[in-house]
Amino acid sequence: MDLKKLACSLIPDGDLLPTEEYEKIYPPRDLKKGAEVTRLAPSPTGFIHLGNLYSALADERTAHTTGGVFYLRIEDTDEKRKVDGAVESVIRSLDYFGIKFDEGAEMDAPNLYAPYYQRQRAKIYRAFAKKLIEEGLAYPCFCTEEELEKVREEQNAQKLVTGYYGVYAKCRNLTEEQIYKNLSEGKPFVIRLKSQGDVNIKHAFRDEIKGEITVTENDQDVVILKSDGIPTYHFAHAIDDHFMRTTLVIRGEEWLSSLPVHLELFKVLGFQTPRYGHTPSLLKMDGGTKRKLSKRKDPELSLDYYRKAGYYPDAVIKYLLTILNSNFEEWSLKNPQKSWREFGFRVDKMGKSGALFDLDKLSDISKNEIALLTPEEVCAFLKGWAEEFGSPSDRRRFDDQTYIIKVLALVTGFGLKKRRKDIERAEQGIRLIDYFFDDTFTPDYSFRQPAETVREILGSFARKYDPADDNQTWFEKVKEVARALGFAAETSEYKQNPSAYKGSVSDVAEVLRIAITGSPNSPDLCSIMKILGKERSLTRLAAAAQAVK
Ligand code: GLU
Repeated sequence: MDLKKLACSLIPDGDLLPTEEYEKIYPPRDLKKGAEVTRLAPSPTGFIHLGNLYSALADERTAHTTGGVFYLRIEDTDEKRKVDGAVESVIRSLDYFGIKFDEGAEMDAPNLYAPYYQRQRAKIYRAFAKKLIEEGLAYPCFCTEEELEKVREEQNAQKLVTGYYGVYAKCRNLTEEQIYKNLSEGKPFVIRLKSQGDVNIKHAFRDEIKGEITVTENDQDVVILKSDGIPTYHFAHAIDDHFMRTTLVIRGEEWLSSLPVHLELFKVLGFQTPRYGHTPSLLKMDGGTKRKLSKRKDPELSLDYYRKAGYYPDAVIKYLLTILNSNFEEWSLKNPQKSWREFGFRVDKMGKSGALFDLDKLSDISKNEIALLTPEEVCAFLKGWAEEFGSPSDRRRFDDQTYIIKVLALVTGFGLKKRRKDIERAEQGIRLIDYFFDDTFTPDYSFRQPAETVREILGSFARKYDPADDNQTWFEKVKEVARALGFAAETSEYKQNPSAYKGSVSDVAEVLRIAITGSPNSPDLCSIMKILGKERSLTRLAAAAQAVK
């Protein structure tokens, strides 16, 4: 068969470059030894999930701890799944978590390996598909969907591996005459790889994450160019990762089963195979069993979830690092003030199988991270959240900076030996300080004392209150009120003889706390009253006295 003629009939494009040219256009990168080139290659579907961040983090760390390059390639070959604005959204979402690309789609960088959108690389794929046809390593397949489905059913019935291979590869051995007849009839066709592999041959393979694995040779004549001339993931992956000079492909373990195809493609294309690291799937506990995080069932799979809920971005990264590298947690405990960027990340230290994702643990880390911040930093974080996701009232909180900084210093225990860890997320943090603002102060006056006693406590304390009092004087006054109304001024006194008192000083303080903050739990009440100011504090005491029935 005249393969050159066949290649020209199948791929008649007159403007394709000779394939050797691409080696010159995209030469090997000039990087120091050991520098890794990694990439994130999302489809622009608009859904950015935790798995993307998880891989991106491994990619970014690997590139940046070795002096390499981390780039963004957009795998937009599937037009149907494309969503407008998805690329910007990937960049913005990852940027929020501190993950930045060195080059790639929409990057303001030299971008020497452009274009980074696969649809714009059509000529390159077509040039190489043509070359494979000329070499007898690829051929046209005219099978219809129905024919392929029938074969699949037959294979399933016989419990055979499904696919296009061996005797099932109907178009593999079409004669020249049959091919040209089909072409002249205008039958649509795809281009398939003419696999040279043998499934009886197995090779040892070193996956950077999974370790030593066994890979069976591929014998599937996979599609490399679809009927619209657009490449499949397999083909584009081999060509792009070669010409963008990726050294380490980090991707989800769902691609492991395609590895034999990819290894064969690199071989037939005459490219050196990159190294691979397949990341384990993210799992969660569900009713005692582990299962994969699912887009349908688990809102926490979406990266937007973490931004909307206001988890501290570094906390999400630190949490992912605890899953990625088992020695990260210990390092982080020893170096709480250090940036995660200082940790010596190692791709070969990544867990080999299912990574258990646990929101409680993330909340814990988020709390700890926020407790390391200054009030100004907490303020900037909450403000950023409010601007993007909050209500107008949430945003108004930041109008008086001096006031909110005082509030945040108090609720985070800034300056105390042991910081308070009450804020775990921006949204919850903003709700936590609702009572400091009149428009969101919605008290629950559930007093445990009789109404009459409550009124007496509130009234007598209001008469004594002086905002100039220090903590000790303030508390002395609470004790005086307690004593005067038949409560024990010391908890120990109350414990010794409970029946002699209405309660203890802590019951009195609780009444004041509920009146001022609307709930029985809060940081230091004397400080809260100081921040609120005399007028507002007294108004709240009076309002509670009036409301109680
Ligand atoms: N576009 C593929 C995906 O989003 C990329 C896989 C890879 O990293 O090679 O799953």
